[in-house]
Amino acid sequence: MSKPYQAAWMSEDLVQFGDAIRRFSKEYLEPNDVAWRTQKQATREAWLKAGELGMILPDLPEQYGGFGGTPAHAAVAFWEVGYSGNTGLGLGINHIVGHYILNCGTEAQKQRWLPGLMAGEVIASIAMTEPGTGSDLQGVRTSAERRGDQYVINGAKTFITNGQLCDMVIVVAKTDPSKGSKGISLFIVETNNPGFQRGKALDKIGMEGQDTSEMFFDNCAVAADCLLGGEEGRGFYQLMQQLPYERAQIALWACGAMTRAFDMTVDYVKERKAFGQAIIDFQNTRFVLADVKATVTASRAFTDMVVQRWVDGTLDSVTASMAKFWVTERQGEVVDKCLQLFGGYGYMKEYPIARMYADARVQRIYGGTNEIQRELVGRQL
Ligand SMILES: Cc1cc2nc3c(=O)[nH]c(=O)nc-3n(C[C@H](O)[C@H](O)[C@H](O)COP(=O)(O)OP(=O)(O)OC[C@H]3O[C@@H](n4cnc5c(N)ncnc54)[C@H](O)[C@@H]3O)c2cc1C
Repeated sequence: MSKPYQAAWMSEDLVQFGDAIRRFSKEYLEPNDVAWRTQKQATREAWLKAGELGMILPDLPEQYGGFGGTPAHAAVAFWEVGYSGNTGLGLGINHIVGHYILNCGTEAQKQRWLPGLMAGEVIASIAMTEPGTGSDLQGVRTSAERRGDQYVINGAKTFITNGQLCDMVIVVAKTDPSKGSKGISLFIVETNNPGFQRGKALDKIGMEGQDTSEMFFDNCAVAADCLLGGEEGRGFYQLMQQLPYERAQIALWACGAMTRAFDMTVDYVKERKAFGQAIIDFQNTRFVLADVKATVTASRAFTDMVVQRWVDGTLDSVTASMAKFWVTERQGEVVDKCLQLFGGYGYMKEYPIARMYADARVQRIYGGTNEIQRELVGRQL
């Protein structure tokens, strides 16, 4: 079992924070993993507990209810949740949405939403993807038409994390389809709006505990002050500004998860026997695990660099994109190699390694596919 997340940049306070999350994971997240997968969503109680522990938006300024942590606190939380193997709690979305509001919102929007998002009392979604477009964000068809002191939103979104539980959603919509990326705006929509409808929770091959859903906006009228930042046409810029943090978060989660896969595999191969010896006594097992350990260590060094830049305020989009595609691909390889060492048990959902294998697959798809990340990096060469 690895120690809770530790790195040269971590103060004693961060080490204690990591310890507290590790305890919470052991006592609460891990035992609830299967139940949440069965019911296709986590519970509100879980969100409140995570909020109480400071796992959601720990870097929020005190004036908005935060405890004044840094991005390093957020990094520790993502890594530890990845390590827990429980993927039901989509709290990364509250983190992302909180930062959209903190960095792009009006003062009234910050006051209205941030304290609840941090406490886990408000569950957020971000709705970019549509049935007809995902990678090509400029192709969104959801529209927001200004009518007097309101905007009327129409459109459909799909694959939206926290879709069943969310209380509010940031919606990507076109306010002026003739202007390309400059015609995109973001809106904060409360889900008790009569024009908002949740679709079904989608059946996925992994991360079953996350309530990924469709959502529909049918003449959904919102007050003009629900426009994020209060200015039309800023949506694409706002998205581009914040996406590096989402990508860094996915890389950290991936690194935590692959470390757990490695740890649980080392434990297993010491116990399991074949041909009169422990599986670890086969040279092949030790070679595979030596490779895995090197990959985990390199991923860790990469993500440590990302966190350091995040804390310094120098995290650039190229580094975040590289970390997203590179570390999630290493996660896929590591979990696959580890699963093999479990033999048939590795294919049984009863075993966490099997669930980690299925969960890992989507990491290369969401948050911008890995092909799009390569495109973003390649363009800057
Ligand atoms: C579990 C899950 C949770 C998600 N959560 C959210 C969420 O909370 N909010 C949200 O808005 N979305 C969410 N998504 C959607 C996700 O972000 C999209 O699925 C993703 O961006 C890809 O879009 P797409 O599915 O439309 O694929 P497409 O864009 O149709 O891509 C299909 C394939 O073509 C490739 N491709 C596309 N364009 C290029 C190009 N220019 N160069 C090379 N290859 C290209 C892609 O990489 C991919 O391999 C989630 C998805 C899943 C599965």
